[in-house]
Amino acid sequence: MTQLYSGRGATHQPRHDGVNTEAHRGDPYRPDAKFPEPAVCPDCQASYRQGRWTWEPAAAEATPHRCPACARIHDGLPAGLLSLSGAFMASHCEEILRLVNNTEARIRSERPLERLIAIDTGGDGSGAAEGGSLTTGPLELSFTGTHITRAIGKAIEAAYGGRLEAPFSEQGAVLRCHWERN
Ligand SMILES: [Zn+2]
Repeated sequence: MTQLYSGRGATHQPRHDGVNTEAHRGDPYRPDAKFPEPAVCPDCQASYRQGRWTWEPAAAEATPHRCPACARIHDGLPAGLLSLSGAFMASHCEEILRLVNNTEARIRSERPLERLIAIDTGGDGSGAAEGGSLTTGPLELSFTGTHITRAIGKAIEAAYGGRLEAPFSEQGAVLRCHWERN
């Protein structure tokens, strides 16, 4: 089989960095990747049937197969990143994170593959998320899907104003969003 490159698509997808290249290679992370049916994710118990992952209970004969969201978490390859910065964020960190968690739970319940992976405090990664004693930004939130990355950025902007940058990203590229309020 000869591989054909028509000029639309593959040859025109720039590779900005290593993460991007990994994401391109990682077809199993795509929300529309196909799996044997029925399947159940051993990590989160999401079930796969009729071409989609749901929170419906899995069929008894379902074969274990890690879902794309858990595969991203397992491999440390987020689909979207949202950084939060500015003086306002530092002084309202707790309530902003409460909004993040509430919004995330709602989206995750509707779309099993759209989840928060981690909240990175940027520094040495110690402590801040636990004691609430965060004094400096930025925070970086990582997600398993681009929809949730954008949606949580927009929820923060709607609630607190500030400025959200949520650029379009190419298929397979990591979406990088920024929110700032001083
Ligand atoms: Zn899973």
